[in-house]
Amino acid sequence: MSISPDSTFDANENLSFIKSNKGQPLLVMNEQLYKCNKKTARKKYWICIVSGCSMVVHTDENDVYLYGGKCDHHHESNSDVIQTTHLRQQMKERVLNELTPIGIIYEEEMAKAPLSTASVATFPTNQEIHQTFVKARRKILPILPQSCLFTIPDPFKLTIDGKRFLLLDESRVRRERLLLYASDLQLDILFDSETIYMDGTFSKAPSHFVQIYIIHGIKHGACVPCLFALMVNKKAATYRQLFSELKNLALDRNKNFLPKLFVTDFESGVIPVLKADVSIYYFCMKLFLI
Ligand SMILES: [Zn+2]
Repeated sequence: MSISPDSTFDANENLSFIKSNKGQPLLVMNEQLYKCNKKTARKKYWICIVSGCSMVVHTDENDVYLYGGKCDHHHESNSDVIQTTHLRQQMKERVLNELTPIGIIYEEEMAKAPLSTASVATFPTNQEIHQTFVKARRKILPILPQSCLFTIPDPFKLTIDGKRFLLLDESRVRRERLLLYASDLQLDILFDSETIYMDGTFSKAPSHFVQIYIIHGIKHGACVPCLFALMVNKKAATYRQLFSELKNLALDRNKNFLPKLFVTDFESGVIPVLKADVSIYYFCMKLFLI
């Protein structure tokens, strides 16, 4: 016997769906949670997730309510499970759709989730859930390159809001790739700065690159990182290419790259380039490590 839609009760207003931790759809109705138990071409059969409870809901193939879900379940509502499952789903969607650090996503979503005390107590900590999210994100990210010669996917050339971030991707000679990253706003800050600070970090450089060279400008009295260069060496020729590109970028923006003061640690590749190519003023600060 077929069951026609229940016209006395607009249950679809109270019907929603969330995904389980394994990605399976779960039906939410009147603060109870149902999993799909059987599916035909025309109908889905949902059963309460609480073991021993026989309450069911039927929907059509398009998840429109047909029957069930209105009787007492004789157990407490699943509101805590619904809240935590929904929260976990929200976090996972952001992990997969953003490049925001997972720890920040966790903190932000926890802060705005209306969890009960019991839900907070049972929800996994950041440390407990971190590896699960890392694995999920890794599945959709490009594989790690085996050399400095790799194709950069388009989303990795842009800022989070979809604007240009990769300025230069060139190999002066084979296997001497130079990547320059900066947003237009960062470039304007850099070209408007009379003093710039430059330094490279070696320990944080990605595999197959020797250093990340960072150039800072000044904005509202604060030192702001403005340009990130991924370099495979510390040769003067590479620094010369970097500063030459900066001059061209400044001209493209109707500006000049002529800072009055450069502050840098002692870097044998940089100093001759600054003396010869960039500005009539320079200042070299040698750092002594004790
Ligand atoms: Zn039940």
